[in-house]
Amino acid sequence: MAPRTLECSTIASQIWEFMDGELPTERTRAVGLHLGSCAGCKAQLEYRRAFLDAAHASIGSQKTPPELRERVLKALFAAV
Ligand SMILES: [Zn+2]
Repeated sequence: MAPRTLECSTIASQIWEFMDGELPTERTRAVGLHLGSCAGCKAQLEYRRAFLDAAHASIGSQKTPPELRERVLKALFAAV
C-alpha cells in the first residue's frame, strides 16, 4: 500500500487515537507525516495536547475518559 497524503478531516477524526497511540503503525506514521507538513493540523494537535496535559493533571489519569474527550472535542469545535 503506497503512502498517500491524508485529508485534514481524516486527521481530525483520528487525532485522539494518534495521541493515545491506538492507531496501527502505518496509520500513525501517515498521520505523523501529515502533521509534519500541515501547520493547521499540527496546531490542532498541540492545542489538544496542551488541553489534555491540563486535564490529566487535574484528574490524575493517563487515559482520557471518552466523555471528557467528547466535551473537549465539542469545546474545540465551538471555539473555531
Ligand atoms: Zn492537515
